[in-house]
Amino acid sequence: MEFSSFRDWFSYREIAQNLIIAGPCSAESFDQLEEIFKVATDEQRWNVIRIGIWKPRSRPDSFDGNEASLHWIKELKSIYKLPVMVEVANPRHVELALKFGIDAFWIGARTVGLPFAVEEIAQSMRGLNVPVCIKNPVGPDVSLWRGAVERFQKVGINKLGIIHRGFSWHYGQKLRNWPLWSLVVQMKSYFPGITVIGDPSHMAGLKSLVPMIAQDCISFGCDGLMVETHPEPEKALSDPLQQIPLAEFSSFLNNLKYPKVKGTTTELEFFRMQIDEIDQKIVQLLKSREDITSQIANMKIKEQLQVVDYQRFNEMLQTRKLWYADPEGEEFIEKIFHLIHEKSIQHQLSIFDK
Ligand code: PEP
Ligand code: MN
Repeated sequence: MEFSSFRDWFSYREIAQNLIIAGPCSAESFDQLEEIFKVATDEQRWNVIRIGIWKPRSRPDSFDGNEASLHWIKELKSIYKLPVMVEVANPRHVELALKFGIDAFWIGARTVGLPFAVEEIAQSMRGLNVPVCIKNPVGPDVSLWRGAVERFQKVGINKLGIIHRGFSWHYGQKLRNWPLWSLVVQMKSYFPGITVIGDPSHMAGLKSLVPMIAQDCISFGCDGLMVETHPEPEKALSDPLQQIPLAEFSSFLNNLKYPKVKGTTTELEFFRMQIDEIDQKIVQLLKSREDITSQIANMKIKEQLQVVDYQRFNEMLQTRKLWYADPEGEEFIEKIFHLIHEKSIQHQLSIFDK
């Protein structure tokens, strides 16, 4: 099944550059939403309003949305005609949202991790011609993300997008949810025509970092952005730290720089050839390394030694980090050598098993 281009998802206004989906984390009052609709009507680059009606909160006493807002949205839509996208987490949400004229849906990170829930939502949308965007699950499990897309494909939804909102698995504390771009590349290889949207708000977690992360999303090659904005972020009932003040939203868009060329250039091809040569060496060296671990395994069998030597591994990590000679790369080196060592142990055990 071919995916429909995001340019054909909504008839409200032409999508000149990227798809811009923006709005408050959650619906709080009629006035709050009206301010959003007014600015979105004037801001030509703003294509769709996102609104959280049902909020999946981690703690039970947090504000979890306001279903009465469906009435406000219906009224505002009849005045301003703007398309609205909401998060749905069960078939009841879908039914109610459709009843109130909601145009598009997204599936939240917490829901995508639950295949029963995703299946039920997908079944409730069978045969509908609505855009559905699927956030990555909270943890970096690409099969869950892929499976969720497949469930919507199976019920005939072809206006499908994925939203990268980062993973709560992280290297450090700077960002709320770290992006893992290689998983987006992987998803694109499963679903070549799918629309890719970046959610810099949930990645950043802090409004001062949102412009930088949004630029990363655009520079990476996302087709669109989903951004949280609020007339008075400091008073927001959910995600107050990460929402861009509505009054600053246009200047936020002004500062984004879009890549002009998609694909490649001769100069880039020259660098890519050099990268290919280096990668060829890396792969060949990894194979040579494995050949030596075969000999090591046979020797350990002969000498009746155990496979692992914890002290040796820790020493190995220290030297590799020193050789890399860049403190900023230490975690990267550590991750690579954990993977290499894991492969080595598995390989040695497979020889022990023979
Ligand atoms: C949201 O978009 O407001 C939200 C709850 O996001 P996520 O599912 O990515 O946490
Ligand atoms: Mn939010």
